[in-house]
Order: sequence, then structure tokens, then C-alpha cells
Amino acid sequence: MLSIQTSLSFPLSSVKPFESLLPYRDYCLASVQEALGGEARLRSRCPACESEHELIGRVCGLEYARCQGCASLFLHSLPSSSGPWAQLLAKISQYRDSPKAFHSGLARERNETVYLPKLEWIQNTLRMHGIRCPRLLEVVTPPSDFSRILAESDAFSEVVIADEMKLISEKSGSMLDSDTVDVAVLLESLDRVDEPEDLLHSLRDRLLDGGLCFITALVSSGFDVTVLGLRNVYLYPPDRTNCFSIAGLERLLTRTGFTLLEVSTPGVLDVEIVLAHLLHDPSLPLSAFERQVLTLGRETREAFQAFLQQNRMSSFARIVGRKNA
Ligand SMILES: [Zn+2]
Repeated sequence: MLSIQTSLSFPLSSVKPFESLLPYRDYCLASVQEALGGEARLRSRCPACESEHELIGRVCGLEYARCQGCASLFLHSLPSSSGPWAQLLAKISQYRDSPKAFHSGLARERNETVYLPKLEWIQNTLRMHGIRCPRLLEVVTPPSDFSRILAESDAFSEVVIADEMKLISEKSGSMLDSDTVDVAVLLESLDRVDEPEDLLHSLRDRLLDGGLCFITALVSSGFDVTVLGLRNVYLYPPDRTNCFSIAGLERLLTRTGFTLLEVSTPGVLDVEIVLAHLLHDPSLPLSAFERQVLTLGRETREAFQAFLQQNRMSSFARIVGRKNA
């Protein structure tokens, strides 16, 4: 199985600046509280590996659980039906696309640091596997900035968009031949949907045998999430309704019928994220070792970030799975 590092480097401020994130995060949290105002259900098992969990604390009053098997983190309470969650994701996606969220002011930088490297990753992988001009399915709650980039690329015969929450509710066997695709891409989709396992089952129905799926996720086994836990301001629902560990993601994909071709964590921001938290709150409880890594200078921080990538210990994960026949 492949594990890839990157020489790409960019500052936190070009992707998701600490201070600008906070109002967007508040909007997300208030919207989740509203969506949970109706009938709710408690998740009883880990959505990745089905083990027992323990409650570990709250993010703005919303309880998170940690799997005792794979150490994935997940929001404990969800609406009892998927309707309110679909509405919530649609509302957040519209908000992200509006000038009110920080994303639109960083559109050019985010294209360069977030989306174009992902397109390149997909194209390189397709080339490696001899797949030419595939029909691609983007699984997302529209609108998405990535849709335009995919459509403008000449790498695909067609780009189809599937609403992730609608895809979950599709019945197995209801698929037409014309619905099938060669490859699918899910950028942090498993992080936010209420039923990630059901999403992967439906995705399997859409993919041809041997078809590839490209997945990115923020993972709980990464450095900044491990060090900061629920203090991490980048951990909030619905964007991180699920924050799987690398082991949890591997387990989830294998048990839904995928063979893993690549599992990498080519993240570049872990150390910078912890540093941003420390600057924001100098009394942040960190170990002496962690403080040392952060304060010894840029070269040490960069070397440590490279180590995290090489050992699959960064919090940005990317995975390529192939659908088993
Ligand atoms: Zn688990």
C-alpha cells in the first residue's frame, strides 16, 4: 500500500486562518444545536469499527464520544431522522459559499492549496492505474468549489455530482446502468454525514467493479487533534461530526468492501495549528516536549511535520480505495 509525503508547503492563514474560522465555527455550532432541537438519538457504537465508546466531553454543549477500539471521535447525538441533518448540511454549504464565511475571501489561495493538489493527486493515481478519461462522481452537499475545478479539467469524460445525504438514502439495487461511474471523490464527506457506513454502501452501488474512490478526512490520530483533543477549534460539527482515526477509516473502508491502495497523511499544518492555539492561549496545557517542538524554531517544526507525514501521524488523511468485485 502506498503512503505519500508532500513537499508542498503553505501557511495556515492561506487555508483556514485561526481567527477567521471562529465566527464560521460559531455559526456551525448554533446550526447544529438548532438541528438537534427536535427528536434526537444517541449513537451507540463507533461508526467506523462498531466498538463501544466512552464520552469524552463537550464542544459548546455538544457531547463527543471516543471509540474504545479505534480511537475515532464522533458526535454522540444526532437527529432521529436524516431530514434535519440533510437540511443542516445544505444550510452550512450555502453559508460557506456566501461572502459571510471566510472561505470566499480566500478563494484563490484555497484553489491553489486545497483543490488543485487534490486534482493532481487524482490525475496521478488514475495515470498510475492506467485509467483514462473516467466518469467521475463528486459526493458532496452542493455547492462545492471543487465541482468547477473538476468540470474545467479535461481529465474526465463526465463529472456527475451526487448529494451525499440523498446518496445515503438510495436503496440498494435501485441503480440504473447509466448511474454508474468509474471513480468517486469524497472530500471530507465521511466527516460530516450522519451515516458514513451507509454512504459507502450506496457508493459501492454506484461504482463499477474495480472502480476507485478518493477520500480525504481530518483524522483524530493526527498530531494536532491528539495533542489538543476537544480544545482544537478545528474540531466541531457538522464539519467534524465524525473524526475517524486512520485505523478507524481503514476498518470502515475494508468492511464496506474496498481494498486500500493508498493511505497517506500528507498534512502540512499540524504543528502550525498547535502553535496558533498556543499563541491564542499561552496557558494551553502542553507537555514540555510539545512546547519544545513548537519553540525550537522553524527548521525543527518543519522536520517534525515531515516526520508526522512519513509516519501517518498528521491529521490530514487521504485514501484511495478500490471497490472489490
Ligand atoms: Zn472504532
